[in-house]
Parts: sequence; C-alpha cells; structure tokens
Amino acid sequence: MSENPLEAITKACRSFCSSFQTHLSRILPAPPVEHVDKPYAAAGSSSASIFSFLTASNPRAVDEAALLKNPKESVLERKNAAAPLTKEELGRATWTLLHTVAAKFPDTPTRQQKRDVRELMAILSRIYPCKECADHFKDVLKSNPVQAGSQAEFSQWLCHVHNIVNRSVGKPIFPCQRVNARWGKLDCPDRSCDLEGGTNSGYPF
Ligand code: FAD
Repeated sequence: MSENPLEAITKACRSFCSSFQTHLSRILPAPPVEHVDKPYAAAGSSSASIFSFLTASNPRAVDEAALLKNPKESVLERKNAAAPLTKEELGRATWTLLHTVAAKFPDTPTRQQKRDVRELMAILSRIYPCKECADHFKDVLKSNPVQAGSQAEFSQWLCHVHNIVNRSVGKPIFPCQRVNARWGKLDCPDRSCDLEGGTNSGYPF
C-alpha cells in the first residue's frame, strides 16, 4: 500500500529539522572553554583533585568538572534546550557575561564607561529574572558600591561581590588573585572580539 501523504510530509519535516539541528550545532561558536579551570590549575592542583573540588563543593559543577575531561563541551550547553532554565544555569550564564565584561574593561575607562558598568549593575539588580537573587543583589550593591576606576579595580570588585553571593548560597569563595587567569580571553577567530581601539577604549565613543 502507498504511504499516506501526511506521513510522508511529517517524515520529511523530521529529517529536515534533524539535519538543521546538526548544522546549527556545527556553526554555533564554542565558548572560551579552555580558561574555565585555570585558577584551580594555577593553584597547583592535579586534574583529579580539581575534579573532586568542583564536584564536592557544588553538585551542579559536575558539568564544569566534566569540561576538564572534555574541553570541547560547553558549560553553558544545555542537555534539553526546551526545559525551563534553572536558577543555577541563569546564574552561571550571567556571571560569565559579567566577568568577561570586567576582563575586557579598559585600564583607563572614560566617565561614560564607568557610568555604563554602574548602570549595568543597577539594572541587573532590578530586572534580574530571579526575584530573591535580584533583591539580595540590590542589598549587596548598596553596601558595596561599584568600583570601576580601572580594569583591575572593576574585576576585583566583581570578584568580591560574586563571593558575597557565593557565601550566601553556600558556594566556595573564589580566590580573587586568580580572577585574571579564570576570565578574559575569548575564543574568537581573527581577533573579531577585540574591543575597538585596544584596552583603552572599549567603546565606540
Ligand atoms: P557560579 O557562582 O555561577 O560561578 C560561575 C563560575 O565562576 C564558577 O564555576 C567559577 O569558575 C567562577 N567563580 C566563582 N566565584 C567567582 C568569583 N568570586 N569571581 C570570579 N569567578 C568566580 N542564586 C541563589 O540561589 N540565590 C541568590 O540570591 C542568587 N543571587 C544571584 C545574584 C546574581 C547577580 C547572579 C548573577 C546570580 C545569583 N545566583 C543566586 C546564582 C548563583 O550565584 C550561581 O550562579 C548559581 O548557583 C550557579 O553556581 P555555580 O556553582 O555554577 O557557579
């Protein structure tokens, strides 16, 4: 008996979607995975002890620890893209953005650049889509106003406030002297991620 035309269309759609998905996963850029665990490595730990540190201190860090074994796999890659985002995934993604912004912040920022990061933090404390986190972060900002006089100052300040959040959620304190080893480089071809004008003018003005 010949195939039902609807069934044939469904099959064709499935096959298209599957090859489209495979294609997408090939062309989407991988995040800067090779820098993920440098601080622990720099601290002199072996790969095995780093793995147990990560998994023992944070059950959700299993993905990150797995990176040590397979650096091509992304921390932020989600097993099931359709599942709701967890507070942890959102947090990890947000800290990744913030620490990368800090790592790329100019050594001698303009007034506008300093204002930008202060506003970024203030806005985050209002619209962060986890209310308890946003409310807590508002308090953190009140007692720790943004310090963004230079790249070093801003990245140390961010490390400090991240540690305040870490402490409040029972996560290990990160050694801030390792922040430059942990965050910074971007895996972008042909320096396409470089900020315009080098480290002193990260903004187009
Ligand atoms: P994360 O804390 O997400 O950190 C990601 C990676 O950054 C770590 O694996 C480590 O390599 C590195 N890192 C860790 N600490 C530092 C540091 N101090 N400096 C530099 N690098 C560091 N969750 C709650 O349950 N309650 C809250 O109130 C809450 N508030 C939050 C407020 C903000 C603004 C944000 C962005 C997130 C908040 N979260 C909160 C989420 C929480 O901070 C974590 O992101 C989440 O629990 C996942 O933790 P993680 O162990 O994967 O590592």
